Amino acid sequence: MIDLHTHTNCSDGTDSPRELVNKAIVQGLDVLGISDHDTTSGWKEATESLRGSLKLALGSEISCLTTDGISVHMLGLLFDPEYAEMQQVLEETRDGRLPRMRKMIEKMRAEGMDISMADVEQAMPAGATMGRPHLADALVAKKIVKSRDEAFVDLLHNESRFYVSHAAPTPAEAIALIRRAGGVSVIAHPFASHRGQILKAEDFSELVAAGLNGIEVDHRDQNPEERAMLRSIAKELDLVVTGSSDYHGTGKLNSLAENHTHREQWEKLESQADARRVVSA
Ligand code: AMP
Ligand code: ZN
Ligand code: FE
Ligand code: FE
Repeated sequence: MIDLHTHTNCSDGTDSPRELVNKAIVQGLDVLGISDHDTTSGWKEATESLRGSLKLALGSEISCLTTDGISVHMLGLLFDPEYAEMQQVLEETRDGRLPRMRKMIEKMRAEGMDISMADVEQAMPAGATMGRPHLADALVAKKIVKSRDEAFVDLLHNESRFYVSHAAPTPAEAIALIRRAGGVSVIAHPFASHRGQILKAEDFSELVAAGLNGIEVDHRDQNPEERAMLRSIAKELDLVVTGSSDYHGTGKLNSLAENHTHREQWEKLESQADARRVVSA
């Protein structure tokens, strides 16, 4: 089994990189992709925890914003972590998430909700990429909502009056950057329509021109019709098709490897990186 999209507590997942690697070994996965939001900080611990036959495809899920203000997530895998411009862009995005969180909290306080930046900081591990799930955890701790899911449904979704975006590269910029860093890019859950406004089919050719390698088709947030459309776009544009869990530990219902990538698709994707960067024990 090959699962190329998971999160740890280096962003908004709840397992440490070591715990996630251990779970992947217990489940007998062949390849685990670790793709924390806008950071590579989990790579070292994941690599040090590796044993047996499991292989790691290390990466990051890079937050992007189109010029029309649509939120897009780009998986960058198998890039050179030392590539300075990549680390700079990831750091800028992480930095931009702080004023964004302050603005969201300000909007909630303006409606009388008892929530502060200190509450959010308390709800997250030090050094993690700060995101809405941590705000959700803080709202749970304050008994304002019962769960992360309820927080998103009622208050934190992309169309919510409390939602604020943060500065991020465009999808084409992120793809070009991933490529310059030697890696491969897979657009994450591009038709996950219930999250809010999404890309249109005609947006993909521009991304292919920028160097896009694959499309995440099998993902729980995409229904059979959306998956079928994506599969046909991938075929048309000769893109790799992936499936993944987007596992977040106990932070989401998604279970590890609930969707997976076929081996020949993985091999095609891996061959498009500029060096062999899959990590083995
Ligand atoms: P952010 O990066 O701060 O914009 O937050 C986006 C993150 O929120 C994504 O990684 C999602 O996995 C997470 N998310 C979105 N909807 C939900 C939900 N209903 N329950 C838990 N997490 C969610
Ligand atoms: Zn997440
Ligand atoms: Fe995502
Ligand atoms: Fe994700």
